[in-house]
Amino acid sequence: MAESLAELARIGGRPDGGVDRLAGSPADVEARQWLAARMREAGLEAGLDEVNNVFGHPPGAGPWLLLGSHTDTVPAGGRLDGAYGVLAALEVYQALATAGHPAAARVALVSFHDEEGVSGHGFEGSEHFCASAPLASISGYLELHIEQGPRLEAEGLELGVVDAIVGIDRYDVALIGQANHAGTTPFSYRRDAGRAATRFIGGLRELVQAIEPRMVANVGALQLEPGAPNVVPGAARFVLEVRCPEPAALGAARARLEDELGRIATEEGCQLEFTPQTSWPAMAMFPGYVAALERVAQRSGLPWRRLESGAGHDAEILARHVPAAMLFVPSHEGLSHSPREHTDDRLLAQGCQALLDGTLEILGG
Ligand SMILES: [Zn+2]
Repeated sequence: MAESLAELARIGGRPDGGVDRLAGSPADVEARQWLAARMREAGLEAGLDEVNNVFGHPPGAGPWLLLGSHTDTVPAGGRLDGAYGVLAALEVYQALATAGHPAAARVALVSFHDEEGVSGHGFEGSEHFCASAPLASISGYLELHIEQGPRLEAEGLELGVVDAIVGIDRYDVALIGQANHAGTTPFSYRRDAGRAATRFIGGLRELVQAIEPRMVANVGALQLEPGAPNVVPGAARFVLEVRCPEPAALGAARARLEDELGRIATEEGCQLEFTPQTSWPAMAMFPGYVAALERVAQRSGLPWRRLESGAGHDAEILARHVPAAMLFVPSHEGLSHSPREHTDDRLLAQGCQALLDGTLEILGG
């Protein structure tokens, strides 16, 4: 595991230990060709499809349990992200094949194109795969990934069984007040759009936590207009992003958020423009697979928990068509999409073992 990760990390590798393998870049394509060659060495029929998905399968027609993730990265990404799940899948196949295990004939491997969404919204490769012929030969999908968040490590846990992937709703919000002189206009006469926006943002945590404890929300950029130290902001614009693994809760959040914004806007003498932008549905993982992975986690003797994924993954695309589930290993200090992304080799090896055990549990021995 450690050697193959190091070898792949050299393709597009950065001096700071990170990786630049943006989807479609020469380094990304080189990594995919390298991977297809490793799959062929392991005895699989492997190659790149029309969109650069790497798909490797044993000779024959399936059905296969698909194992994998993605090998593209964000700019200045880490060496683990999707690469870990892809190489662990290859290692699982090699272990089964070397042992002459009959399950070796029942798994296939994949690295999906542009999971990260560098050129589009992401998941281009998995969406293409699910709309093309190989899907008919797939019985299900298992993806091992680093958590990309702090929870497992903070709780002293070494393995996570993912039961759902969050949905993501985004709203364009504009609060329109009146730009005015910041010296001559007393507070009580102001229609300060900046104050309205920051009042809302200040209460956002409590508001969404009251709707669903697992809901999170974010305002990552706030634009105040006209944008001068001596002018009361006449307009505040931002994108409000809300995430939750519970689809119904996201629906309920919309009305609550709009109500709260409307209430604050009225108090501050502002007008509200609230426009739904994008809605990405939450996706539950397949209960039968989740139960199988929980049995594996329990038998491993490792400290583990069930959790939702706060980040999107190819598994949510596959889950629309076939049974799908995910396993997480801890991310040190919760860091990801960063050259400082790290997980100890011991934890990576344990995750790989859990992927092997989960594969056998799902395939029935
Ligand atoms: Zn990833």
